[in-house]
Amino acid sequence: MLVFQDVHKVYGKHKEKQVVALQGINLTVNKGEIFGVVGFSGAGKSTLIRCVNLLERPTSGKVLINDVDLLTLSPKELREQRKKIGMIFQNYNLLHSKTIFQNVAMPLILEGKSKEYIKKKVTELLSFVGLEDRMNHYPEQLSGGQKQRVGIARALATDPDILLCDEATSALDPSTTESVLELLRKVREEFDLTILMITHEMNVIRDVCDKVAVIEGGKIVEQGSVIDVFTEP
Ligand code: ADP
Ligand code: ADP
Repeated sequence: MLVFQDVHKVYGKHKEKQVVALQGINLTVNKGEIFGVVGFSGAGKSTLIRCVNLLERPTSGKVLINDVDLLTLSPKELREQRKKIGMIFQNYNLLHSKTIFQNVAMPLILEGKSKEYIKKKVTELLSFVGLEDRMNHYPEQLSGGQKQRVGIARALATDPDILLCDEATSALDPSTTESVLELLRKVREEFDLTILMITHEMNVIRDVCDKVAVIEGGKIVEQGSVIDVFTEP
């Protein structure tokens, strides 16, 4: 479970240059849920996601993962916690000089897992995302949708509790988007995960999310089940 409690984020030390990016965010994402945060550019979506993977520290408020307050952790505990967070990106962030197998193996190599474990795990994951026959290819030999499948396999390699999706389908055409969303639904069914996705694409939220929060100017202006939020009263 992922919880934001009254999270504020202000960028900049000097008063005249400060940017208020988040103003009192409260949200709860339960295990097994796909929670979407939708908003225009500049609304605060990236800042929100960066407060979960701890690329940014909130100026005030709490971010809790399974009741653990991320801001109270020691550097060592933080490194452990980070392994429980998988992330996928708009531009996939794959290593171009590495094969598909090596890309998915990377987080496991960094964790010091054995060769046998890595081989088994990566093969399983590539088969799960439907790319076992592309293992020895390089990212540039794949389509956008296939690259995102590799990104998803890599994000799942360390058995995370939380999967963060940062505009994960924004670079894809509609039919590829649909197939990646279908894969995310399958991820939700087969892995014990909490999924938070940020996007500016309303149709993505409607297709795949259980709950949605609409963010504007760093504030959540509407929040609820997708059916409630998208149904006109
Ligand atoms: P979104 O992801 O919805 O486009 P962001 O979280 O990137 O929104 O940005 C929210 C606000 O914070 C914007 O006004 C943006 O310019 C500002 N901002 C984001 N990152 C930084 C940063 N590192 N330094 C200063 N301002 C930032
Ligand atoms: P997105 O909206 O897709 O997040 P942005 O162009 O807003 O893309 O942000 C890209 C990167 O630049 C992020 O790391 C963000 O934190 C940083 N950034 C955004 N706005 C500012 C800003 N005003 N000053 C400094 N860094 C910023």
